[in-house]
Amino acid sequence: MTPVSLSKNKRAVLISGAGIAGPALAYWLCRAGFAVTIVEKAGALRAGGYPIDIRGTAVEVVRRMGILPRLREAHIASRRFTFLDADGGTVASIEPRAITGGAEDLEVRRGDLSASLYALIRDDVEFLFDDAIDTLDHFEQGIDVTFRSGRHRTFDLVVGADGMHSQTRESLFGPESQFHRYLGYCFAIFTMPNTLGLSHELVLWNTPGKAAALYAVGNGDELHAFLNFHQPQPPFDRSPETQRDLVATVFADAGWEVPSMVEAMRDADDVFFDTAGQIRMSHWSRGRVALVGDAAYAPSFLTGQGSSLALAGSYVLANALVTNPDHSAAFTAYDRDLREFVGMNQALVDNGAARLFPTTAQALAQRNAMLRGLAAMPAEPANPAHSALVLP
Ligand SMILES: Cc1cc2nc3c(=O)[nH]c(=O)nc-3n(C[C@H](O)[C@H](O)[C@H](O)COP(=O)(O)OP(=O)(O)OC[C@H]3O[C@@H](n4cnc5c(N)ncnc54)[C@H](O)[C@@H]3O)c2cc1C
Repeated sequence: MTPVSLSKNKRAVLISGAGIAGPALAYWLCRAGFAVTIVEKAGALRAGGYPIDIRGTAVEVVRRMGILPRLREAHIASRRFTFLDADGGTVASIEPRAITGGAEDLEVRRGDLSASLYALIRDDVEFLFDDAIDTLDHFEQGIDVTFRSGRHRTFDLVVGADGMHSQTRESLFGPESQFHRYLGYCFAIFTMPNTLGLSHELVLWNTPGKAAALYAVGNGDELHAFLNFHQPQPPFDRSPETQRDLVATVFADAGWEVPSMVEAMRDADDVFFDTAGQIRMSHWSRGRVALVGDAAYAPSFLTGQGSSLALAGSYVLANALVTNPDHSAAFTAYDRDLREFVGMNQALVDNGAARLFPTTAQALAQRNAMLRGLAAMPAEPANPAHSALVLP
């Protein structure tokens, strides 16, 4: 396997979104001689978020980018995952690899991955923070873009890497509801003080349809808190206050440390609330615009494959653009080379990816029996779906 080859092409590409997919795509396109601009609606890189996994094919992508050593250093080597029952009693305590598999796989803070990607490209890419695309107008040779700031520029191509709730997708393909497959859970993620003295470990509390996790990444004074709950219909009100109220209501009678988590959520300034869902589209491009990462094929946190698909998808899209001077041919190749891999990883939700979050007492009892069994078993092998894509 060889990396994306260099070319003398000087096409100008605008990428919307400086999350994971956007900077990864920018890296490969810059290397191939494209002129790349990234517009990001936040005022700076968004460093927050729960730890994310980089697995299988995506490990090969970060190796080719030269950031594997840095990410190995940032790897979160947890000592144990402990599962608790409704009253906080221990159900099972497990060595993490027994659940995650894949000896080469990495788990890093989302901010560490984002910063590693940014460091690779900051001198070569034009960043427009605190701005966003307002309108896109195709003409024969390119696209006229107006920005919310009032800027006006022309590009050869535009790529939407603006996440699950992509504006680029909405403006080109229509409302998110057409592409969103709701998976029946809502979640809130935030940080809170480590008053429990947890260190290098994850503690997960469950009752049917409810889960609360505290993740001590290292032995610092901060914990990543996660509250996840089953909700048959997705909530429609997206205001932060209503979301916090919903979480507080759902967990009102919960045991263990959950009341203090809910209290901490009220004070947290970094709450990330979303529904667990997937984006499924029959096309990832239209005209001179393509989508990459969560914007095109979010697999949901239940698969743990969001960042890996973003990294692999960025590589495949860049490779297609570098090897096909015609953008239509490139977008066809991108679709052809990536779709099966996306499908296999999105299908993980139907094949047990939600097993950590059972919604009935019976399913929870089965999961707990499975966990007790795992505690006595050797590490699970890596999931074949994670490595199913062989990079050109
Ligand atoms: C702050 C944050 C925290 C996250 N935390 C978690 C987590 O804890 N667990 C998890 O599984 N996944 C989390 N994710 C999602 C995870 O990062 C993605 O699933 C995965 O990395 C795919 O990356 P992406 O680049 O496609 O999308 P994202 O990482 O979501 O990046 C999208 C980027 O586009 C920007 N953007 C959005 N709209 C516009 C617009 N109109 N114009 C310009 N820019 C725009 C966003 O600010 C963001 O920087 C988080 C994402 C963010 C942004």
